[in-house]
Amino acid sequence: MNWTIELEKLSQERKIVLEGIFEAKMIELPNVQCKVLQPIKVKMVVVMTKDGIAVGGYVRTILEHPCDRCLKPVELKINGTIEALYKHISEVPKEKEEELQSLRNVIYYSSDRIDLSERIIEAIVVDVPMRVLCKPDCKGLCPRCGTDLNEDPEHLCEDQKIDPRLSKLLLLKKTNKEG
Ligand SMILES: [Zn+2]
Ligand SMILES: [Zn+2]
Repeated sequence: MNWTIELEKLSQERKIVLEGIFEAKMIELPNVQCKVLQPIKVKMVVVMTKDGIAVGGYVRTILEHPCDRCLKPVELKINGTIEALYKHISEVPKEKEEELQSLRNVIYYSSDRIDLSERIIEAIVVDVPMRVLCKPDCKGLCPRCGTDLNEDPEHLCEDQKIDPRLSKLLLLKKTNKEG
Protein backbone atom coordinates (compact mmCIF):
# COMPACT_ATOMS: atom_id res chain seq x y z
CA MET A 1 0.00 0.00 0.00
CA ASN A 2 1.37 3.37 -1.06
CA TRP A 3 0.40 6.43 1.00
CA THR A 4 1.77 9.00 -1.41
CA ILE A 5 -0.58 10.96 -3.63
CA GLU A 6 0.37 12.51 -6.92
CA LEU A 7 -0.96 16.06 -7.11
CA GLU A 8 -1.49 15.83 -10.83
CA LYS A 9 -3.77 12.84 -10.38
CA LEU A 10 -5.59 14.64 -7.56
CA SER A 11 -6.24 17.74 -9.65
CA GLN A 12 -7.74 15.55 -12.35
CA GLU A 13 -9.87 13.41 -10.07
CA ARG A 14 -10.54 16.05 -7.37
CA LYS A 15 -10.88 13.28 -4.80
CA ILE A 16 -8.75 10.25 -3.95
CA VAL A 17 -9.66 7.57 -1.41
CA LEU A 18 -6.82 5.60 0.15
CA GLU A 19 -7.79 2.53 2.10
CA GLY A 20 -5.68 -0.33 3.34
CA ILE A 21 -3.17 -1.60 5.85
CA PHE A 22 -0.31 0.61 6.99
CA GLU A 23 2.73 -1.63 7.34
CA ALA A 24 4.49 -1.18 10.66
CA LYS A 25 5.67 -3.58 13.36
CA MET A 26 6.44 -0.90 15.93
CA ILE A 27 5.13 2.56 16.61
CA GLU A 28 7.48 5.01 18.22
CA LEU A 29 5.85 7.13 20.91
CA PRO A 30 7.68 9.98 22.68
CA ASN A 31 8.71 7.75 25.61
CA VAL A 32 8.23 4.19 24.49
CA GLN A 33 8.19 1.87 21.48
CA CYS A 34 4.96 -0.05 21.07
CA LYS A 35 4.51 -3.35 19.31
CA VAL A 36 1.67 -3.39 16.77
CA LEU A 37 -0.69 -6.24 17.73
CA GLN A 38 -3.28 -5.79 15.00
CA PRO A 39 -2.75 -4.65 11.39
CA ILE A 40 -3.13 -0.88 11.19
CA LYS A 41 -6.32 -0.18 9.24
CA VAL A 42 -6.41 3.18 7.54
CA LYS A 43 -8.93 5.03 5.43
CA MET A 44 -8.21 8.49 4.07
CA VAL A 45 -10.14 10.76 1.78
CA VAL A 46 -8.10 13.42 0.02
CA VAL A 47 -10.02 16.27 -1.59
CA MET A 48 -8.89 19.27 -3.59
CA THR A 49 -10.65 22.30 -2.12
CA LYS A 50 -10.26 26.02 -2.71
CA ASP A 51 -8.42 26.29 0.64
CA GLY A 52 -5.95 23.56 -0.19
CA ILE A 53 -5.77 19.79 -0.05
CA ALA A 54 -8.00 18.48 2.71
CA VAL A 55 -7.21 15.09 4.24
CA GLY A 56 -9.64 13.30 6.53
CA GLY A 57 -9.92 9.77 7.79
CA TYR A 58 -9.30 7.28 10.52
CA VAL A 59 -6.67 4.84 11.75
CA ARG A 60 -7.48 1.74 13.81
CA THR A 61 -5.19 -0.74 15.47
CA ILE A 62 -4.19 -2.32 18.77
CA LEU A 63 -0.82 -1.54 20.33
CA GLU A 64 1.04 -3.20 23.14
CA HIS A 65 1.84 -0.43 25.60
CA PRO A 66 3.43 -0.97 29.03
CA CYS A 67 1.34 0.00 32.05
CA ASP A 68 2.64 3.37 33.26
CA ARG A 69 2.82 2.08 36.84
CA CYS A 70 3.75 -1.63 36.76
CA LEU A 71 5.11 -1.99 33.17
CA LYS A 72 2.86 -4.99 32.44
CA PRO A 73 1.94 -5.03 28.72
CA VAL A 74 -1.50 -3.53 28.08
CA GLU A 75 -3.50 -3.97 24.87
CA LEU A 76 -4.29 -0.45 23.82
CA LYS A 77 -7.06 0.13 21.30
CA ILE A 78 -6.33 2.98 18.92
CA ASN A 79 -9.12 4.78 17.14
CA GLY A 80 -7.41 7.83 15.73
CA THR A 81 -8.68 10.63 13.53
CA ILE A 82 -6.71 11.97 10.60
CA GLU A 83 -7.32 15.60 9.82
CA ALA A 84 -5.02 17.93 7.95
CA LEU A 85 -4.95 20.66 5.37
CA TYR A 86 -2.08 20.91 2.92
CA LYS A 87 -1.24 24.23 1.33
CA HIS A 88 1.42 25.09 -1.17
CA ILE A 89 4.60 26.56 0.31
CA SER A 90 3.96 29.83 -1.54
CA GLU A 91 0.94 30.35 0.72
CA VAL A 92 2.94 30.47 3.96
CA PRO A 93 1.20 33.21 5.92
CA LYS A 94 2.63 36.33 7.50
CA GLU A 95 3.73 35.97 11.11
CA LYS A 96 0.43 37.06 12.64
CA GLU A 97 -1.60 34.31 11.07
CA GLU A 98 0.94 31.60 11.73
CA GLU A 99 -0.39 30.62 15.14
CA LEU A 100 -3.91 30.20 13.85
CA GLN A 101 -2.68 28.07 10.97
CA SER A 102 -0.80 25.66 13.19
CA LEU A 103 -3.95 25.13 15.27
CA ARG A 104 -5.73 23.96 12.16
CA ASN A 105 -2.98 21.43 11.41
CA VAL A 106 -1.91 23.09 8.19
CA ILE A 107 1.06 21.53 6.45
CA TYR A 108 2.98 23.14 3.61
CA TYR A 109 4.13 21.15 0.62
CA SER A 110 6.55 22.05 -2.11
CA SER A 111 6.79 18.98 -4.33
CA ASP A 112 4.33 17.45 -6.78
CA ARG A 113 3.50 14.59 -4.44
CA ILE A 114 2.51 14.29 -0.78
CA ASP A 115 3.45 11.40 1.48
CA LEU A 116 0.62 10.91 3.97
CA SER A 117 2.29 8.25 6.15
CA GLU A 118 3.32 10.88 8.69
CA ARG A 119 -0.35 11.77 9.20
CA ILE A 120 -1.09 8.13 10.03
CA ILE A 121 1.66 7.93 12.68
CA GLU A 122 0.57 11.30 14.06
CA ALA A 123 -3.07 10.18 14.40
CA ILE A 124 -1.94 7.09 16.34
CA VAL A 125 0.37 9.04 18.65
CA VAL A 126 -2.31 11.63 19.41
CA ASP A 127 -4.83 8.91 20.29
CA VAL A 128 -2.64 7.35 23.00
CA PRO A 129 -4.01 8.49 26.38
CA MET A 130 -1.85 10.52 28.78
CA ARG A 131 -1.79 7.60 31.17
CA VAL A 132 -1.99 3.93 30.23
CA LEU A 133 -2.84 1.62 33.13
CA CYS A 134 -3.37 -2.16 33.22
CA LYS A 135 -6.31 -1.49 35.56
CA PRO A 136 -7.58 1.76 37.07
CA ASP A 137 -6.28 0.93 40.56
CA CYS A 138 -2.91 -0.54 39.55
CA LYS A 139 -0.63 -0.37 42.57
CA GLY A 140 2.59 -0.20 40.58
CA LEU A 141 6.01 -1.43 41.55
CA CYS A 142 7.94 -1.07 44.79
CA PRO A 143 10.25 1.88 44.08
CA ARG A 144 13.07 0.16 45.99
CA CYS A 145 13.12 -3.39 44.68
CA GLY A 146 10.65 -3.47 41.80
CA THR A 147 8.27 -6.01 43.35
CA ASP A 148 4.84 -5.90 41.69
CA LEU A 149 2.59 -4.53 44.43
CA ASN A 150 -0.51 -5.90 42.68
CA GLU A 151 0.74 -9.43 43.29
CA ASP A 152 2.14 -8.67 46.73
CA PRO A 153 0.04 -5.90 48.29
CA GLU A 154 1.53 -6.40 51.77
CA HIS A 155 5.07 -6.09 50.42
CA LEU A 156 7.52 -4.16 52.54
CA CYS A 157 11.19 -3.83 51.76
CA GLU A 158 13.57 -5.02 54.48
CA ASP A 159 14.46 -1.60 55.85
CA GLN A 160 10.85 -0.43 55.67
CA LYS A 161 9.69 -3.16 58.01
CA ILE A 162 8.41 -1.82 61.27
CA ASP A 163 7.68 -3.19 64.70
CA PRO A 164 5.02 -5.91 64.30
CA ARG A 165 2.93 -4.37 67.12
CA LEU A 166 2.90 -1.00 65.40
CA SER A 167 2.06 -2.62 62.07
CA LYS A 168 -0.92 -4.33 63.70
CA LEU A 169 -2.07 -0.96 64.95
CA LEU A 170 -1.70 0.58 61.50
CA LEU A 171 -3.66 -2.26 59.97
CA LEU A 172 -6.41 -1.71 62.53
CA LYS A 173 -6.50 1.98 61.70
CA LYS A 174 -6.72 1.18 58.00
CA THR A 175 -9.56 -1.30 58.56
CA ASN A 176 -11.47 1.29 60.58
CA LYS A 177 -11.05 3.86 57.83
CA GLU A 178 -12.28 1.49 55.16
CA GLY A 179 -15.22 0.33 57.27
ZN1 LIG B 1 -0.21 -1.85 36.06
ZN1 LIG C 1 10.45 -3.65 47.76
